Amino acid sequence: MHSTSISDVGLPRAAVLGVLGGGQLGKMLAADAARMGIKIEVLDPTPNCPAAVVAKQTLGSFRDPVKIRKFAEGVDVLTVEIEHIDADALDTVAADLGLDVEPTPSTLRLIQDKLVQKRHFQAAGVPVADFMGVDDPAAAAAAAQAFGFPFMLKARRLAYDGRGNAVVRSREELEGAVEQLGSYGQGLYAERWASFVKELAVMVGRSRDGSTMAFPVVETLHQNSILLVTEAPAQVPPETQRRAQEVAEQAVACLDGAGVFGVEMFLLADGALLLNEMAPRPHNSGHYTIEACATSQYEQHLRAVMGWPLGATDLAVPACIMLNILGEADGEEGVQRAHEVMARAYQVPGASVHWYGKAEVAPQRKVGHVTIVAPSAAEARSRLAAIDPSAAAALA
Ligand code: ATP
Ligand code: MG
Ligand code: MG
Repeated sequence: MHSTSISDVGLPRAAVLGVLGGGQLGKMLAADAARMGIKIEVLDPTPNCPAAVVAKQTLGSFRDPVKIRKFAEGVDVLTVEIEHIDADALDTVAADLGLDVEPTPSTLRLIQDKLVQKRHFQAAGVPVADFMGVDDPAAAAAAAQAFGFPFMLKARRLAYDGRGNAVVRSREELEGAVEQLGSYGQGLYAERWASFVKELAVMVGRSRDGSTMAFPVVETLHQNSILLVTEAPAQVPPETQRRAQEVAEQAVACLDGAGVFGVEMFLLADGALLLNEMAPRPHNSGHYTIEACATSQYEQHLRAVMGWPLGATDLAVPACIMLNILGEADGEEGVQRAHEVMARAYQVPGASVHWYGKAEVAPQRKVGHVTIVAPSAAEARSRLAAIDPSAAAALA
């Protein structure tokens, strides 16, 4: 253990960390920040955003340069809980105010565009699925020719929860998929289909000096392209876990700036790993770290962006499963169904309930999650079955 004096760490005094975005990630970040003596202010356009119960909210868009400028003037360090922000405005405040923006605006800009992101990782030697830009019908036909069917058509920007993706199963489906994603002019790219046996994810912390630390490898199970369940540790051989951490750290190492990064990967039948995409912030696949790791992904992000030493990332429990609570209906009916999941969770040992307090419950919207810790993977799965039998069946 290298010695670090408290002056290296720097006491927070009244340090204010500004966060662009105040959703559930901002809320959980602010909860850890409160414990650590860091004051959080969030910039978010939705009145009473989830983070507002634990942080001061400035009402405004994280895509509005004027709002960002004004917000930045009141903080000591600036970070994000969403990547779909105005990166140019962040460059400006970094230059004009000398403000630390972590991770760097250039990293955020690179990740915002999934095609640019893919090119960057490919050039750095990180394994990715074959892809190509698709700007017109001729390029779409070339992608179909090169990749065969099915292949994935993706929006380059503003994607989340699979909402910018369309599976193209045949030549006939192509134009419909383009239309579904807007039009060729929206900026699309095509990706070869990855017939994965599992999806894995690794959170990686990166300090300001560029050193990285991976969290344990989790399996992520998506339904309708939305994350449903994560299982930690992933039930894959230790060698696969080691390689997944290696790929994740390699990918994070070729970016700039401090923070935690969520790295999504495909595990293929022959054991090969392909990077799917990266998020430059705490990530849904890292929620489990709150209950299951020596340091949570949120504390790690705070340590990293404040320039403090990274914390230990070891699993502190034998097994852990996280279940997303997704809205199943609009309005009161949706709230009622989510409450039923929560009510079952409160009766299961080792289960912790997180409710985001979003103003609206809507179908397929993340409204909360449950983390289950257990003495074994089998016990974690049987506890999951007591809360959500269909999610447990999907994982089996
Ligand atoms: P997120 O909410 O994670 O940001 P997103 O909208 O950016 O999601 P992706 O991560 O690109 O979407 O894809 C969502 C899911 O769709 C993946 O987790 C995976 O299950 C599936 N998927 C994506 N790309 C491919 C591919 N090339 N081949 C097969 N399945 C894929
Ligand atoms: Mg994404
Ligand atoms: Mg994804």
